[in-house]
Amino acid sequence: MNLILTEAAEALRNAQKLVLTAHENPDGDAIGSTLGLMHVLRDMGKEVRVFIDDDIPSNFSILPGVDQIERPTEKMTADLLVVLDTAPDRIGRTGELTDAPILNIDHHISNDGEGRRLYLDAARAATCEIVYELAKELRVPFTKESAMCIYTGIATDCGFFSFANTKPFTMRAAAELMEYGVEPNIISEAMEQKTYTVVKAMSKALDTMEIFHGGQAVGLFLDEGLSAEIESTEGFIDMVRVIEGVDVALLLKCKEKDVCRASMRSKGTDVSKIATSFGGGGHIRAAGCTLNMPFAQAKATIIDAINRAMDGEQQG
Ligand code: 5GP
Ligand code: MN
Repeated sequence: MNLILTEAAEALRNAQKLVLTAHENPDGDAIGSTLGLMHVLRDMGKEVRVFIDDDIPSNFSILPGVDQIERPTEKMTADLLVVLDTAPDRIGRTGELTDAPILNIDHHISNDGEGRRLYLDAARAATCEIVYELAKELRVPFTKESAMCIYTGIATDCGFFSFANTKPFTMRAAAELMEYGVEPNIISEAMEQKTYTVVKAMSKALDTMEIFHGGQAVGLFLDEGLSAEIESTEGFIDMVRVIEGVDVALLLKCKEKDVCRASMRSKGTDVSKIATSFGGGGHIRAAGCTLNMPFAQAKATIIDAINRAMDGEQQG
């Protein structure tokens, strides 16, 4: 059931004890939206816990409240389980351990909302833009704490105001959050920080680069050995999506044996459709999926799918 913003705000207002969660492999928007909403709801006097079933990258340690994010380990009771920045299929054990009714808040066009209450606005650059709107709808003033978290999700999901999803709304929201004490340089410096080892590994990753579809697509292919060596591939795809003439960029890595993860970025081709065809999802210009097969087969499969999608777009 699709809700409108006022109904989503009403559902939050009516709950006293809430569990907030977001997707595994959490990014700035997943962490920013859960923590941002946590601050807003606590400012309303509600009892709020945040569960994310994954490690939180150290880049986020500057965010107020990040130390309160818990891993789900035992059953918990709540009036409402708020699932942010994803459909409930990517929240790990949080879903199994909470039997509260779900309120899903998302901006991914691939979220079909089947069988649950969903507030989806695919025109928003980040789930954090929706949290910003909800705070206003609930008439809860921002604080430096909530503003820092919400700003981080907005900034990271729009490539620090550079991607096509950056709208006047995005900039106005960010500007308003700055009035509450957000320092953009502090956030961006924390987000871009990498270890020496990871920067070293970038050169190894670049060595795996291959172009296909006549130079309009490019991929980095981190096999099992290289994937195990590299602790974080955050931002790796950005090194190659800038290549002249490239529309689609791909990063393929191994999570474990026979489990490969593909990340895609594009300037035009709908990569969300490609990801969805493998059970993943995302946005038109940024999407991802899991391929449960050996690395060599995953590589051939995803290259073939990208080639076919790009052929189709050129004909269409
Ligand atoms: P990334 O490549 O940065 O992991 O993800 C790009 C976008 O696609 C993000 O918005 C992310 O949430 C989404 N995405 C990545 N992997 C998956 C997946 O396996 N399933 C779904 N539904 N979305 C994904
Ligand atoms: Mn997001």
